[in-house]
Amino acid sequence: MKRVGVLALQGAFIEHEKMLSSLGADTVEIRQLRDLDGIDALVLPGGESTTCGKLLKDLGIMSPLREMLNNGLPVFGTCAGEILLAEKIDGKSSDYLATVPIDVKRNAYGRQLGSFNTVSEFKGIGEVPMTFIRAPYITSVGDGVEIKACVDGKIVGAEYNNELAISFHPEISGETSIHRYFLEKMVR
Ligand code: GLN
Repeated sequence: MKRVGVLALQGAFIEHEKMLSSLGADTVEIRQLRDLDGIDALVLPGGESTTCGKLLKDLGIMSPLREMLNNGLPVFGTCAGEILLAEKIDGKSSDYLATVPIDVKRNAYGRQLGSFNTVSEFKGIGEVPMTFIRAPYITSVGDGVEIKACVDGKIVGAEYNNELAISFHPEISGETSIHRYFLEKMVR
């Protein structure tokens, strides 16, 4: 059974755990460095990227985790998780994980009316429902990044080697196909 860590410092981690369990994965909540031992993959849920980023640094998880990702640990980041993975945030170099060569714009759809549902194509899967909650979108991608999804001409999903980053929340809309894609195509 695949053992998937879910960062459980803050945000929508329970929903990810339920979805991963429903797909037959074993989940482990990551709250400290040693929880990362023995995982086959990691999920970074949505929440607040500034809070989560600060906690990752304060708990001494940030640098070791960055090294694990650079060494090939499969990771799936949604919304704030995508922000933690981005090399640049609003045009500036990130000091979070920064392992995916993308630039993200935070709260890109506005703060008040920034939540909406839509349906759009996800490359390799087909049409999927997408729930956005004060979401970022991706303003540029570097070499080797595969664009997986766009909504209204904005990039909302990207894959880079062992890393998948999306702007929306399949764990909240109940859409299992992207978690299944991650588990089947990216986690060995
Ligand atoms: N707006 C949040 C941030 O900038 C992300 C929102 C979310 O994860 N749903 O971190």
